[in-house]
Amino acid sequence: MERILRGIMRYRNTTREQMVKEFQRVRDNPEVAFTGADAKRMEIVNHVVAQNKSGDAAYLKAVSLAEEILPNGRNVRMAKLAVDKGIQVDLTTGYSTEEVCYAQVIPTKDHTWRDLKRLRKNVNLFIKPKAVFFTCMDSRMIPTRYTDTHVGDMFVVRNAGNLIPHAHHFQDEHFSCEPAALELGCVVNDIRHIIVCGHSDCKAMNLLYMLRDPDFASKNNRRLSSLRSWLCTHATTSLEKFLEWGEKGMRDPLIFYSESGLRRFVAYIDPDNQFAIEDKLSQINTLQQVSNIASYGFLKPRLESHDLHIHALWFDIYTGDIYYFSRGSKRFVPVDEQSVEKLTEEVKRYYS
Ligand SMILES: [Zn+2]
Repeated sequence: MERILRGIMRYRNTTREQMVKEFQRVRDNPEVAFTGADAKRMEIVNHVVAQNKSGDAAYLKAVSLAEEILPNGRNVRMAKLAVDKGIQVDLTTGYSTEEVCYAQVIPTKDHTWRDLKRLRKNVNLFIKPKAVFFTCMDSRMIPTRYTDTHVGDMFVVRNAGNLIPHAHHFQDEHFSCEPAALELGCVVNDIRHIIVCGHSDCKAMNLLYMLRDPDFASKNNRRLSSLRSWLCTHATTSLEKFLEWGEKGMRDPLIFYSESGLRRFVAYIDPDNQFAIEDKLSQINTLQQVSNIASYGFLKPRLESHDLHIHALWFDIYTGDIYYFSRGSKRFVPVDEQSVEKLTEEVKRYYS
């Protein structure tokens, strides 16, 4: 989890700031044309060329660059991988990573069978996934980008509304992919962190909000829509929690079951009242998934012995802010320069 928090900070400090600034500039000045010089100044592109008579100057430049890069493409990719992986591990593993990457830029025909066997062994040495990551299938969510994670870092499972069905829905062979993914990640591969990440303007959550109308959520209507049926079956608990909380004025803390029957956590949802009503539902739904994950018997021994941990993140699509649910602060806290040290400390202390 510490690595994910560091990844979010790298994303904040690079891509996010750039994207948000540009998004705001275009939104506030729709009449402003976006020029090649602007893109070069913002380091979005490396080259700007003057247009030619046939109108294909950019295409010709791209072709000439591609011809230049192509013969070295594999080497460039391997060098980047060696640097990325090398800075995250100890010296010995770093050397091993470098060796593997170096070996891969040598044409395969030069390898002996023994070399290939050694290569595979080394690759397995540094591929140790750190998290099973559940998030929404929304096309605006690119989890590996906003957590700055790479090959071998996470198992990612995506569906409409980032739902993990509660264990009581399943008997015998009637299972869905989410618990199977939990078993594959946490039992077979011994991963110690499960992360569930919701987001703003979630179309599935917007629909769930509409399903509070009993007619819209009727059995007949559910038969017409797999999505409505999926949400009514697996997100009703989130909706009921949200409605009960709404009736009491949206200020009371909510309580969620977590790692064991005895462990619960308290959550104040959007205490500064900065998000849309559907986003509040999305945050409650994200936390409800922590309880749903904890409902699986095959995870219980590890959860109860503090060997396996469940975390919640929430992504604000329009600002690029990513929130970590801090059980200490009892709320979603934006991961930024002010909070990151404290959050990392919390993760180290309770979830290492
Ligand atoms: Zn969504």
